[in-house]
Amino acid sequence: MERRARLFVVSGPAGVGKGTLVARVRALRPTLGLTVSATTRSPRPGEVDGVAYHFMSDEEFDQHIEAGDFLEWAQVHDHRYGTLRSEIDACLARGESVVLEIDVQGGNNVKKVFPDVVRIFVEPPSWETLVERLTGRGTESEESLALRLQTAKRELTLADSYDVQLVNDDLDEATENLDQILEKYETS
Ligand code: ADP
Ligand code: 5GP
Repeated sequence: MERRARLFVVSGPAGVGKGTLVARVRALRPTLGLTVSATTRSPRPGEVDGVAYHFMSDEEFDQHIEAGDFLEWAQVHDHRYGTLRSEIDACLARGESVVLEIDVQGGNNVKKVFPDVVRIFVEPPSWETLVERLTGRGTESEESLALRLQTAKRELTLADSYDVQLVNDDLDEATENLDQILEKYETS
């Protein structure tokens, strides 16, 4: 069966399980490329520079904007995040599909540059579950939690603007569904 490298965007509110799902689906599809975004936020405990993100100062981020290095960037919550073109080019040059785990503004901007991008929105089974997951992850201060939940409310209203909606209820089931979505678009 003919297979082609595709660009996928995975968005959804903080704490819905995007990182967890993408990591699991990558274990099933080892050639799936994942880009490392740049951010001006500080690393959380355990986050390694160059692996979780390219952590950078505001000045460094500005320099990358001026140099035209970003495919897209956006202000998300209280910091800036961006996808470096070099990250995607490396994967696509190898003929591998790429997943961008970025916010909805970023997803919309990528669509302008790559019209055949497939955008997948991950939804929680309920608002209560989202709050539980984000709180349970234990990574956010009270202020950061409140900000993420406020952004989440807005983002959830945009789910229908995406190509595919995926509910992350049972993790095994959601992983299998995501795997099938990627398979479908790579082979169609
Ligand atoms: P995101 O990347 O969207 O911010 P994470 O992947 O960090 O979210 O997940 C947030 C928390 O929810 C983590 O503690 C993760 O282990 C948990 N989680 C993710 N998916 C599920 C699921 N289907 N059921 C229960 N807990 C989940
Ligand atoms: P966190 O601070 O929890 O790691 O990420 C916060 C949000 O930033 C998430 O919704 C995530 O999708 C988004 N994000 C991460 N990297 C990028 C990026 O490169 N571009 C854009 N636009 N959003 C990003």
